[in-house]
Amino acid sequence: MTKKLYIETVGCQMNMLDSELVVASLRREGYELTANKKEADAILLNTCSVRQHAEDKTYSELGRLKHAKAHNPHKVIGVLGCMAQKDQHLIFKRAPYVDLVVGPGQLHQVPQLIRQIVAGGGPRIEVSLDRTAGSNEQIKRSHESFDPLRDPAMRPTPYQAYVRIMIGCDKFCTYCIVPSVRGPEQSRPAADIVAEARQLAGEGCREITLLGQTVNSYRYRAGDVTTRLADLLAQLHDIDGIARLKFVTNYPKDMTDDLLRAVRDLPKVSPYLHVPAQSGSNRVLERMKRGYTVEEYRDMLQCTRETVPDAAVTSDFIVGFCGETEEDFQATCDLVRESRFKNSFIFKYSERPGTKGAARYPDDIPDDEKKRRNNELLGIQNAISHEDNQSQIGRQFEVLVEGPSKTSQKQGETGTVIQLTGRTHCDRIVVFEGTERQIGQLLPVTIYDASAFTLFGHVVTHEAGPELYELVASSK
Ligand code: SAM
Ligand code: SF4
Repeated sequence: MTKKLYIETVGCQMNMLDSELVVASLRREGYELTANKKEADAILLNTCSVRQHAEDKTYSELGRLKHAKAHNPHKVIGVLGCMAQKDQHLIFKRAPYVDLVVGPGQLHQVPQLIRQIVAGGGPRIEVSLDRTAGSNEQIKRSHESFDPLRDPAMRPTPYQAYVRIMIGCDKFCTYCIVPSVRGPEQSRPAADIVAEARQLAGEGCREITLLGQTVNSYRYRAGDVTTRLADLLAQLHDIDGIARLKFVTNYPKDMTDDLLRAVRDLPKVSPYLHVPAQSGSNRVLERMKRGYTVEEYRDMLQCTRETVPDAAVTSDFIVGFCGETEEDFQATCDLVRESRFKNSFIFKYSERPGTKGAARYPDDIPDDEKKRRNNELLGIQNAISHEDNQSQIGRQFEVLVEGPSKTSQKQGETGTVIQLTGRTHCDRIVVFEGTERQIGQLLPVTIYDASAFTLFGHVVTHEAGPELYELVASSK
């Protein structure tokens, strides 16, 4: 008999990939996905710990699940991922009806643990060793992962897939919880990555996004041969069927010349680089222990622009980090103004217990002030994103069609012509009209309008293309 699984995922692309893998393993046990919590035999929350807000949301969701469990005591409720690793037994204390707590390194055990719970074995917890609880080797081994299991149905689209090339992080930025919940930095064998990419290509996948917390620090040694990200990209580039290769997230210090040359010279590699700066003030960067100065970041950006002039560069920023003065914040605004990022993710600093930041520095910027800084920086970035998108009007891009647009989905559009969404090679979102048959294809699209976040276009056909282009060009 089929059993029903409801899974909710918050956080980054790593978590989306983890959920995909958990679903794949549970499908093998006879589970089917449901969007209805009430009818689910198992409810799993795959969680994030990067900011307090994400944790608060998970605990409120758990609060709501109390009634579901009271109503059906056989329902299995599980907390997976980073918050499971961070809070461990605290989750049972705060929500005693939770059956399962599993860290990101033990997700392959989920099917077996659920079986034990269903058989009456009581609550189960599986997490990795703390980063101080053993030798580096023991800790590394305790952060296992289970990448080869894949379930195409859980991907954002069948034509796009994430492939993990590294786990963990050793950078220890003082604000960040990731190194303690995801464990030490470990690169996956290049041959495994290439084999997985080949399998995905065989299943019809056109775009692969390589994932790592600091993806450009990738380095795998087998005998005398060391494979770095640039080498790996060259190997993946040879796979037939794959049209695009992306990689996130980059660490500014590891943006090496050979990697930039690979982006320039390998046509399948997207000229899209997410390289978070976090702050434009040296004083703040030093307290964050980011390992570079703003001058070094600027040099890296200049090198990037010189080598790959059409690259779309994006960034992350944290505002209101401990001790950030107005002058520090204005230095960040200056960096955003001059860097012309395609877009930036801006976060209010959220103190994370257990990090060096929390131990060393008081979280002394009031929330209202963090909000003000967040809005001001967002305003600067959005104006740039808008200008940047406006300058794309009249251009033609090759767009990988992802599926119906959000509007189309909301309105439940059916019929021959629907609104579709897709992305350019440099990760710009494009909305246009087309047919369902075009989903998964790479199509030429001419842009006729733009907002800060979206380009609006027409698919170029042999009959309509040039006229449309002229129409737009002459109306400017
Ligand atoms: N490894 C990536 C890097 O180094 O850029 C990012 C990992 S983190 C999951 C994604 C983003 O969350 C970071 O770039 C940072 O801007 C933000 N972030 C991390 N810790 C944070 C904290 N304590 N408060 C607010 N934002 C945070
Ligand atoms: Fe966190 Fe810094 Fe590692 Fe990114 S590089 S995951 S921000 S510690």
